[in-house]
Amino acid sequence: MMGKKNKAETILAQAGHYLDKATGSVVPPIQPSTTFARDEQGALYDANRIYARDQSVNAEMVEAVICELESGEACKLFASGMAAATALVQTLRPGERIVAPKVMYWSLRAWLISFCQDWGIELAFYDPCDEVDMAQVVHASPTHLLWVETPANPTWEVVDIAKAAELAHSVGAQLVTDSTVSTPLLTRPLELGADYVFHSATKYLNGHSDVVAGAVITAKQDTRWERLCKIRAQQGGILGPFESWLLLRGMRTMHIRVERACYNAMEIARHFADYPGVLEVLYPGLVSHPNHETAVKQMSGGFGGMLSIRFDGGREQTAQIMGRLKRFVRATSLGGVESLVEHRALVEGEGSPVPDDLLRFSIGIEAVQDLIEDLEQAIKG
Ligand SMILES: *Cc1c(COP(=O)(O)O)cnc(C)c1O
Repeated sequence: MMGKKNKAETILAQAGHYLDKATGSVVPPIQPSTTFARDEQGALYDANRIYARDQSVNAEMVEAVICELESGEACKLFASGMAAATALVQTLRPGERIVAPKVMYWSLRAWLISFCQDWGIELAFYDPCDEVDMAQVVHASPTHLLWVETPANPTWEVVDIAKAAELAHSVGAQLVTDSTVSTPLLTRPLELGADYVFHSATKYLNGHSDVVAGAVITAKQDTRWERLCKIRAQQGGILGPFESWLLLRGMRTMHIRVERACYNAMEIARHFADYPGVLEVLYPGLVSHPNHETAVKQMSGGFGGMLSIRFDGGREQTAQIMGRLKRFVRATSLGGVESLVEHRALVEGEGSPVPDDLLRFSIGIEAVQDLIEDLEQAIKG
């Protein structure tokens, strides 16, 4: 082996450098066996394989690649992003405290509110645009977990991970970063001091809108990590072999996909920043974005494929613009090769903090001119 660590592009393209010595095949097979046999003496053929609720050849291949990308000590793959995130929060004990951002992935926020109430875990929210507020909330009472999502859905605030880690550690808490939108390519939270990274692998990691999956990566295999492993083993939230195989396949082109999505998003953000009928483009790559400086500091290689646009004329006009789009697909989710658009306030319903003149775009890897043209005709009406 060459001594130096492989770069992300190589880790992804080679995805574990699989080679079957028996057949020469360069792509791993799918191993669907739920149980693993013992020999005549009762010994397992492989000491690590007994039963597939928590042991999966295909999932382990994916975990190894993600773990290397994030410079972690270990990674666990789950059957969805929500399964992964909720398992991490379930490592908290009654009476402990989690601090989370006011603006974050909507379903996780909703789950946190009911779970923490039901299980006696203290939950407090901070304003992700305000470092002073984050510090005050963390200091207000003994805190165990600080949750950061960056850039955050759907306004793309960028939180300074290094500062958040310092803050968390100063009170003996641990930092989790939801890095779904940054991907393991643009930001590496563990290298900035985070203790755990979470990804909805449904998004950029898989990238083809055909697998639901989640991952947690840890800086150290500490006691919280052991609890998380136990939760997955006992609750069985592991990703299935076929989905794991598809995810590994999808990941092999992530660097190319993310590079193109970042390029397209930047072009669209610049094109529409001062466009008639546009109130505001929210994209961390724009100098006008309030957290642009932090984004420059902690994102490298691009500012992601997610952006939001606020339009003149309020809810009705905005809904009409969305209705006129022909190339963008009107659907939730993000991180796929095809561009999607969503009216978040409409989807989230009553109580949503998202302005109703905002459309959220997941920019894909199409020809950017086609996307710009589509948006232009939709705005002009
Ligand atoms: C999609 C998403 C999740 C939840 O992941 P699922 O795979 O849908 O369960 C969590 N956080 C962010 C930022 C997401 O985009």
